[in-house]
Formats: sequence, C-alpha cells, structure tokens
Amino acid sequence: MSDPVILFAARPERWAIYEAPLRRALAKAGVSDAGLTLEAAPSDVDYIVYAPNSTVQDFTPYTRLKAVLNLWAGVEQVVGNDTLTVPLARMVDVGLTDGMVEWCVGHVLRHHLGMDDHIHGQDGVWRNGKVPPLARHRKVVVFGLGELGRAVAQALVPLGFDVSGWARSEKQIESVRCFAGPQGLDGALQRAEIAVLLLPDTPATTDLFDAARLARMPKGAVLINPGRGPLIDDAALLAALDRGHIGHATLDVFREEPLPPEHPYWGHPSVTVTPHIASETRPDTASEVIAENIRRGEAGLPFVHLVDRKAGY
Ligand code: NAP
Repeated sequence: MSDPVILFAARPERWAIYEAPLRRALAKAGVSDAGLTLEAAPSDVDYIVYAPNSTVQDFTPYTRLKAVLNLWAGVEQVVGNDTLTVPLARMVDVGLTDGMVEWCVGHVLRHHLGMDDHIHGQDGVWRNGKVPPLARHRKVVVFGLGELGRAVAQALVPLGFDVSGWARSEKQIESVRCFAGPQGLDGALQRAEIAVLLLPDTPATTDLFDAARLARMPKGAVLINPGRGPLIDDAALLAALDRGHIGHATLDVFREEPLPPEHPYWGHPSVTVTPHIASETRPDTASEVIAENIRRGEAGLPFVHLVDRKAGY
C-alpha cells in the first residue's frame, strides 16, 4: 500500500509549529510521514489536516479524500460546507481540555471570591466589609457538557462548588446536577449565579442567551463565555449589564473577531474581554489525535471524534 498523502491546510505559519509534532505522532502511530505535505495535487490527497481559516474551502477536487481532520474544537465554519462529503473529525485534545479547565476555574474563582475589589482597590482603603460565601454556597452552571464542559464541571466539584450543567442529552456526572434539552433550560438558568458557556455555535444555540433567558438568571449573575460569540445576544447582554441584572461578563469569543476597537464591550466597567485565548490546541497532543485517526483510516477502522453534520457539532 502506498504512503497516505496528508495535506496540511491551515494558515501557512502553523506549518512550522505543527510539522515536527505531526511527524513524531505519525511515527508513533506507525503511519508513514512521507506523504505529509503543505502542497499536493488535490486528486492525490487522502487526508486533510484542516483549519477552517485555510484557503481550502472547496473540497470537490479532492476526489480520493478519506477524511478531514479539524485542528479546532469548533467546526461551525466547516460543518455546513456542502462540498465536504467525507467524514469530518473535530479536535478533542487533552491539552486543549486542560487549558480550558484552567481558564474557566480561574475566572470562576475570580468572580466567586470578588478578587477585583482588592486588585483594583490598591488605594489605601481597608475594604474588609465583604466576605465571599464558601464555594458550597455558590451555584455554578456549565452550559454544554461535552468534552470541555464536562471537564470544567468535574474540576469545580472538588473545589466545593454547587455545580450543575445543561446539555442536549441527559447526562450522569457525579456530584453535578444535570439538566437536559429545552425543558431543562429554565431550571439551569435559575441556578446560574455563575454561568460558564461551553456550547458550540449551531442554529439551535444562536442567541440562546437573549433578554428573556438572561432575565431568568439570578440578579447579579456572572456570565463567562469561552464557547462562541453568537451564543449571546450582545444588545440584550449590554442592557442586562447596564441594569445590573447581570453583574459581570467575562467574554473570550465574539461574533466578530478581533473585537472591533469601538465595540461597547471594550471599556465597559462590567465586562472583561479576553482575545479568544481561553484554550489553544496544543500541537504535541493534538498531533497524536490526528495521527490516531489517520492510523484508523489506514487500518479500515472507524474514525473517532466525528462531527454530527446534521446537529452541527
Ligand atoms: P462538544 O464535545 O461537542 O460538546 C458540546 C456540548 O454542547 C454537548 O454537551 C452538547 O450536548 C451541548 N449542546 C450542543 N447543542 C446544544 C443544544 N442545542 N442544547 C443544549 N446543549 C447543546 O464540544 P467541546 O469540545 O466541549 O467544545 C465546546 C465549544 O467550545 C466548541 O464548540 C468551541 O466553540 C468552544 N471552544 C472555545 C475555545 C476557546 O479558546 N475559546 C477553545 C476550544 C473550544 P450533548 O452532550 O447532549 O451532545
């Protein structure tokens, strides 16, 4: 059997970061790396290691393609591509998950403890009037209990938080109260003193956090969004922040990225903007996930981490 041709289709500068880890991971998986390349005739390509912001947007010429292996966890920019007719796998990477857990736990603790009062108040005033509740008295809800949301919920439990979660399907996660589907949404919103959004961007999740849903959250609730920008109706969130119904929003993702300098989120006293840095795919571990799927493809085994094209994630 000839060596598989594996096209790396991402921003060109990513090649320098990924080439060596991919070659190492392919060797470890027992797959030849001879066909790993930045350029190939489309009709020769067996696999595409893919970032949705690459120049490859029309998959029609890739006539012998076996799978597209996404380097990102989010697939909203490729899932609706009608020219893609072979399996699409998304990134599930232990490094990405660990990074997301660390980012989310850090931001939950910041708001739970009210750290800002002291970080910003280095002005000679002895502010000892506010004692935060213990974690066990703080209700945190993780919206989205997939690879990332589940790990975040599970990391908050041993810290003592009263953790709930919401997903499309029923879940059983130890010490996490799980809500499911549209009928479970209200119950989840009502508990969300701190909400962490780890849902994908799909037609069903667009503007999920609109005026009515934000109004169902407890007064002073904090929204932490490392999921995707379109999950939130921005005008509704700004209005809820201005009214004080939502106490703070820490936002890592936006409808338009980079967030334009004139956007009202910048400089809003109750908003923290972070520039889509919650968690990155880590080349070493991500390459192992890609190599494992290529090994599977070559062995005739089913791919892992396949996207449900109909559900959109
Ligand atoms: P995942 O494993 O696909 O999990 C998605 C979760 O959302 C699942 O629990 C799913 O429910 C739930 N869900 C989807 N549609 C829903 C709906 N209509 N109603 C209720 N629940 C719904 O995805 P993941 O790997 O955890 O990643 C989540 C998102 O994080 C990605 O899509 C990406 O947008 C974002 N992300 C951001 C960064 C960053 O740096 N900011 C980094 C990586 C990922 P089921 O379990 O029932 O299917």
